[in-house]
Amino acid sequence: MFAEVLVNIVVRQVDKSFLYAVPEELKNKVQIGACVRVPFGRRVADGYVVGFKSGQPAEKVKEIIAILDRGPLFTPSQLALARWMAAYYLRPTVEAIQAVIGPRLKATAYRQSKEYWPITQNGLEISSSLPLTPKQTALWQVALTNPGLSRTRLTSLAGVSPALIDVLVKKGLLSERVRTGPASDILLNKAPKNEVLVLNPNQKAASDLINTAIQAKNPKVFLLHGITDSGKTEIYLQGVQQVISLGGQAIILVPEIALTPQMVDIFFARFGSTVAILHSRLSAGERFSDWNRVQSGEARVILGTRSAIFAPVKDLRLVVIDEEHEPSYKQEENPRYHARTVALRLARQHQAVVVLGSATPSLYAYSRALSGGPFRLLELSHRVDRRPIPEIQIIDMRQETKGGNRHLFSQPLQEAIQDRLNKKEQVILFLNRRGYATFVFCRNCGLVMKCPHCNISLCYHANNNLICHYCDYLLPAPSLCPDCQEQHLGYFGAGTQKIEKEITLLFPQAKVLRLDKDTVSRKNAHRQIITTFQKGEADILIGTQMVAKGLDIPGVTLVGVINADITLHMPDFRASERTFQLLMQVAGRAGRSIKGGEVLVQTYSPQHYAIVAAQKQVYLDFFRQEMMVRRKMNYPPFTRLCRLVLSSTGPDVAAKAAGELGAKLKKALNLTPFQEDQIDVLGPVMAPLAKIKDRYRWHLILKAKEITILRDAAQIALSWYEEKTVLKRKVKLVIDLEPQNMM
Ligand SMILES: [Zn+2]
Ligand SMILES: [Zn+2]
Repeated sequence: MFAEVLVNIVVRQVDKSFLYAVPEELKNKVQIGACVRVPFGRRVADGYVVGFKSGQPAEKVKEIIAILDRGPLFTPSQLALARWMAAYYLRPTVEAIQAVIGPRLKATAYRQSKEYWPITQNGLEISSSLPLTPKQTALWQVALTNPGLSRTRLTSLAGVSPALIDVLVKKGLLSERVRTGPASDILLNKAPKNEVLVLNPNQKAASDLINTAIQAKNPKVFLLHGITDSGKTEIYLQGVQQVISLGGQAIILVPEIALTPQMVDIFFARFGSTVAILHSRLSAGERFSDWNRVQSGEARVILGTRSAIFAPVKDLRLVVIDEEHEPSYKQEENPRYHARTVALRLARQHQAVVVLGSATPSLYAYSRALSGGPFRLLELSHRVDRRPIPEIQIIDMRQETKGGNRHLFSQPLQEAIQDRLNKKEQVILFLNRRGYATFVFCRNCGLVMKCPHCNISLCYHANNNLICHYCDYLLPAPSLCPDCQEQHLGYFGAGTQKIEKEITLLFPQAKVLRLDKDTVSRKNAHRQIITTFQKGEADILIGTQMVAKGLDIPGVTLVGVINADITLHMPDFRASERTFQLLMQVAGRAGRSIKGGEVLVQTYSPQHYAIVAAQKQVYLDFFRQEMMVRRKMNYPPFTRLCRLVLSSTGPDVAAKAAGELGAKLKKALNLTPFQEDQIDVLGPVMAPLAKIKDRYRWHLILKAKEITILRDAAQIALSWYEEKTVLKRKVKLVIDLEPQNMM
C-alpha cells in the first residue's frame, strides 16, 4: 500500500503529492488526514496523507518514517474544500490545508500545554547506533518509558534542560502534541437564562422561509436585511433550533468574538453544551477540545470568527454570517480568502442553507439579492421594541469656516457637549483614522480633488504633487480652489490625540478617556477603558472604529462624528460604502438610552449621497446612488478585482519590479489603449500606504467582468515572478483576489 503525501512546505514547486510506502507496522494506523514524517530529498519533512494507491509504482519510493498525528486533521470533504480554495486563490494546496486545520494545529505554539511522545523508527525501538549524547539518551529513555509527559515533567524526570527536548524533536525522535483541556464550561456557568422569543409577523415570515429551506435541504442563500434591534438574532437562533432538531450542525460567524460577548452568552443560554466556540483568543486546550467536539458530532452549534468556517462538521445544515459586510471576514494574510466566499462553497458541498445578516449589506450581497439574483432578500423593517431610531444631524463645516471657526469642533457640537456635561450625561466622540493618506479639500466649498479616471481622491505628497494611487495620474497641487477660487485648500490628518488636546482646552472640567490603538496596546486595556466609561467615571470617550462596534452604554445621549470626510475620501473605491456603514453603526450606539440619543456628524460634504442617506437612515437610497457610481466607473459588483502588491526594502526595487510586471501583463494580455478590453490593468503605482514596516509598496489593480479572466492574468504574474530567481529574494509579490483593502 502507498500513501499520497502532501509535504508541509509552502513552496509552489513542491505543490503536489508524493508517493510513500506505508511500512507493515503502520498499515492500519495511517488514514487520510493523518500527519506523517517522511524523508524528503536529503532531509525529513512533515506531511499530510491525502490519499492511497495500490499496485507497484514505476519508481522506487521511500517509506513513511513515523506517524506524528493520526488525526484525521481534516475530512475528505475538507480536503476538497482546501483544494478548491488553493485553486481559487492561486495558493499552494498545503497552505490551504494549513488554513483548514489551523485553529487546531496552531495550538502547538503554546508551550505549557504540550506533551511529548516518542517516535520510533518504523515502529521499532531506536537502535543504539544513533549518535546521541549521554544526556540525549537519558531523555530518550525517559520519554520511551513515560510517553505523553508534559514539558516540565519530562525535563525534571530526565534531569536535562528544556532545550534538549527541542533537539530530539528536530531529530525526529519526539513528537509534540497538544494537551486536551476542558471545554468551554467556564462560559457555560455564567450564561444567562434565555427564553425563546415570540416572533413578530415580519420576523416570522423570514424565519419560516429559512427553516423550510433547512428542512428541505434546499441550499438557498438568504440576505437578512434589518436595522439594529430588528430581531435578526432571534431568527438565527430559531434556525439553529431547527438544525438541532434535525440532528445537523450549524456554523455561526461573527466579525470579532471580543466585541460580541452578548452573542456568545445568548447562544450558550439557548443551546448549552452543544455549543462550541472557535476563535483565535481561546487557550490551546480549549480550542483543541472544541475542535474534537465538532468532529465527533457532539457540538452542534459552532460560533466563531472567520476561521470557524473550517470547523470539521459532519452534517452541516446552516451557515449564518452576521454583519456580512464587515471587512474582517477577509483574511489579510495568505491564503487571502473571504469567509463568505468559502461559506457559499462549503454550503453547496453540504446542501446547507446560508443566511447573511446585516443592517447595511455589502453592495455585493444586496445586488445579488435583488429580484432575479441568486440570493433571496428578507427585509426586517422596524425595531422589535418599536423605539424610535436616533436622529442624525448633519453639520456643514463649510459654514463654520465662513463664520471664522477654524476649530475641529463646530459651534453646535460644542454646545451639545456642554449641554450633556451640565446634565451629567455621557458623550462619545468618534474619529475614523482609516484615512492614513492626506487628501486635499476646500474648507469653503467642500470640493475634494479627485482623479478624473478613477473617481478616487488624489493624495497629497511632500513634493507638492497630487497623485492618484490607482492609475498614477499626477497634478501639481493648486493654491486656489479650482471650483470657488478661494484660498481655503486644506489637508486632512488630525488624530485622536489632537482631538483630546482640543477637548481638554474647550472643556477643562470634563473627564476624558481615549480609546485607540495606542491606548489599548496593553492586554485588557480595551475592556478597562470601556468599564470605566460604563460605570460613569468619565464624561467623554474619544475613539476610533473600536467605539463604533458593539458598545452598549445607556448613559450616552450624544455621539459626535468629528469628521465623516476622512472615510468618505480615502483612496478606496469603497469609501462611500464604508462611510455609510460606519455612520449607521455609530448612530446605533446613540440609541441605547431611554433618555433618547442624538448624533451629530461634522462634514464638509453635507450633500454627498452617503451622508444624506445615512442621515435619513435609508439603505436603499444609498444603494441606488452608489450602484450608479460603480456602474459608471466599472467597479465591483459590476466587475471583479485582483490586486497585485509588490514590496521591497529598497525604495526603487519594488517600483522597478512593478514596472516590469505591468509591462509584462499588458503585453501578455495584448492590451491596446482606448479599446474595450475584457480586462483592465491599472498602475503600476505606489500604494496609498507607500511604506509599511520598512517595505516600500507598489501595486497594480486588475479589473475584469469574469473571475476566470482575472485568475488567468494573475497566473501570468505568478509565472513571471516564479521565473525571477534573483528578484524573488528582494521583492515580495502578494496576489489579493477580490481585495477588501485597497490601501
Ligand atoms: Zn472651493
Ligand atoms: Zn486614477
